[in-house]
Amino acid sequence: MPKLIDKFGREITYLRLSVTEHCNYRCFYCRDDEHVPNCKREDILSYEDIERIVQIFAELGVTKVRLTGGEPLLRRGIVKIARLISHVDGIDDLPLSTNAHLLEKFAKKLHQNGVNRVNISIDSLIPERFKKITRGGDVTEVIKGIDAAIQADMNPVKINVVAMRGVNDDEIESMVDFAITKGIDVRFIETMPIGSVGIEALEQHISEKDIFAKLNKHLGSKLNPINASRTDGPAHNFKIKGTNSTVGIISAVSNHFCQTCNRVRLTAKGDLILCLGQENAISLKDAVRSDLTNDEIKNMIVNTIHKKPEKHEFNTVVDNISNQQMVEIGG
Ligand code: SAM
Repeated sequence: MPKLIDKFGREITYLRLSVTEHCNYRCFYCRDDEHVPNCKREDILSYEDIERIVQIFAELGVTKVRLTGGEPLLRRGIVKIARLISHVDGIDDLPLSTNAHLLEKFAKKLHQNGVNRVNISIDSLIPERFKKITRGGDVTEVIKGIDAAIQADMNPVKINVVAMRGVNDDEIESMVDFAITKGIDVRFIETMPIGSVGIEALEQHISEKDIFAKLNKHLGSKLNPINASRTDGPAHNFKIKGTNSTVGIISAVSNHFCQTCNRVRLTAKGDLILCLGQENAISLKDAVRSDLTNDEIKNMIVNTIHKKPEKHEFNTVVDNISNQQMVEIGG
């Protein structure tokens, strides 16, 4: 069986699958306020397309598929999509990234249909501030979603906080305390310059070093570094002594993690994206809707993987970055 190995020797085992461009939140660093997804139903990968593409990737050595978006819980048939993917031979890890606004309704069903763990985005615990960042979101619904995920035995339940100077950096300590109280994990993410809104949001950028300084002041000797595994990607993680929680910092900008990058992305419209930071895509939707055989599509993917860039160059070549918004690419 051919494996997906790029020209820098990195093996691709992780597919981030966006199932919709729609989102019920409009986080200011993720999409511009006017952005409306421009796609008809037939533009979006169908259940059959998704199942076939995941099967092809699994045969090429992919073992992990993350459901993302847009907001994946808005996709009609999301439980069915989870079930189809979880039944593909070779896929043994099916996490979900969600804003959790609808998770209370879906957590149990998704878990029963193969979703083993969840990352939940929550940038503030202060209702007014949360509403402002998400342009209309309701943090009480998100907290209900977090509780439902815990109840449903998703493991781990992780909250992701985009840390922004002057926006929510005064909540780093309270987010940690919230995670400890719930017995869940927390990750602080540096703002990334994706699309025009992401570049604007860089004004609020707070570095890994500054986030760590706050964590260190708050937790001191309770912070126990966890040895990075190959699949940790950009996160530096710590066990919080005496608790069931871990805390981490995802420093895609301050620190290059590209040398261990094991992932590619598939947009809801079926474009295979090789690197979050650079534009280079091929359409797998066209491929699966043509008369190409699975073997021919596999060859096409294997050849495309060779074009995966060495690194994202977020912090050096601003001209080179993707113009698509995060909500379209699938964060
Ligand atoms: N709707 C889902 C959610 O809220 O998690 C999945 C999609 S969302 C695009 C995935 C993640 O990307 C979220 O954690 C979000 O905060 C993050 N994100 C979006 N734009 C970003 C940016 N410019 N920099 C860093 N993270 C970003």
